[in-house]
Formats: sequence, structure tokens, C-alpha cells
Amino acid sequence: NPQISVFGITLDNWTMAQLLNEVLQQCQRKPQSMQQYAFVNADCLNISTQDESYRQCLQQTKHIFADGIGVRLACLSKAKALQDNLNGTDMFPRLCKLAAANNLSIYLLGGRSGVAKAAANNMQQRYPKLNIAGCHSGYFNSESNSDDNQRVIDTINQSNADILLVAMGAPKQELWLAANKQQLTCSIGIGVGGLFDFYAN
Ligand code: UDP
Repeated sequence: NPQISVFGITLDNWTMAQLLNEVLQQCQRKPQSMQQYAFVNADCLNISTQDESYRQCLQQTKHIFADGIGVRLACLSKAKALQDNLNGTDMFPRLCKLAAANNLSIYLLGGRSGVAKAAANNMQQRYPKLNIAGCHSGYFNSESNSDDNQRVIDTINQSNADILLVAMGAPKQELWLAANKQQLTCSIGIGVGGLFDFYAN
């Protein structure tokens, strides 16, 4: 599988179809511990050069995908052409379709109160067989040692979700997934930025 390194971050140079196929295969395989995926844009790469914990987190992320023209240009400066522009917003409806067809459930964590639920309802209408395992807003005390954080993790695990989408903005969502991945029992956790807002209307 082709990879490209920029700013010390290794990107998977995949198409959206390859990404979705990997999600399906991993969910069917049920990995021992949650696998983390991330999308990075130029802003994220920039933050990663300043923020050691975010950089370390990305270095331990299973798959990182390139989002946007800035990252495309960074790759071109190394004479590497990206196959596709990959981001959570484009992925979401396709992931929902794949999940509905293969009986995989999705949990939506993030956004203001009611936003994830509205996005879930929209996708549910579009794909009637879709199994949304649950929704939770992204405003809670997300520090690792807080009761609130533990309650959110327990709720996600009790939902038996296969795929967890975390929309709390980068790098917060990536750091949250990394800090809690030992405890999370879903197969895959993906940071998806502000996408629930986009699909809530
Ligand atoms: N958000 C959240 N919890 C927080 C901070 C932000 O759930 O503590 C949500 C916010 O409601 C918005 C998203 O995270 O839906 C951030 O979107 P943004 O477009 O800023 O993220 P990006 O796509 O740029 O990473």
C-alpha cells in the first residue's frame, strides 16, 4: 500500500474505495484493540509541527489520510501525487451506506447538543437499514480521569458500536481517541472534524 511522508507524518495514499474497504475488513476481523484513523489537512500538519502530543498521537495512528489542496501541494513538492482527496464529510454518507449493507453499527460522538442525533436521523432516512448505535454531544469533561469521560466511554461500549466517529475538531478528537483507545471496544475510531453540523440540516 503506497504511503507518502510529509512533515514527519506518514499518509496512506489511498482512494475512498480503498479506505471504505479497509473499514469493512477490519470491522469483520474485529481487532483486539481499537484502530484509529485520522484525516489531516494543511492546518493539522501545521499544528503537528508545534504540538508534540498531537505529533506523537498521529505517529501512532493506524491510518492517516490527506484532506485538501494544502496537503496535496506538500506531497507534490516531494514529487508524489495523491490519488484522492479524503475527508470525513465525503466519507460519511458512503460509510453509512457501507455500514447499512454490512450490518455494522456507527456511534456518533461530537458537536453541540442534538447535532449528532440530527445527522443520524438524516442518514437513517437515507439508508433505512443503517444501525446508529448511539449519539452523544462533544461537550463533556473529556479529561481522562473524569467521571464524565468514563461515563461517555461506558455508554459507547455498551452500545456495541463497530465504528466510532468523533467530531470534536482536530486535534482534540485525535487526542481523545488516542487517550482512550485502550478502553474503547469498537473496532475503528475516526476523527471527522465538524461533519455532524454539516449533515444536521
Ligand atoms: N466540538 C465538540 N467539542 C468540543 C469542541 C468542538 O464537539 O469541545 C465540535 C464542534 O461543535 C464542531 C466540531 O467539533 O462540530 C469542530 O468543527 P471544526 O469544523 O472546527 O473542526 P475541523 O473540521 O476544523 O477539525
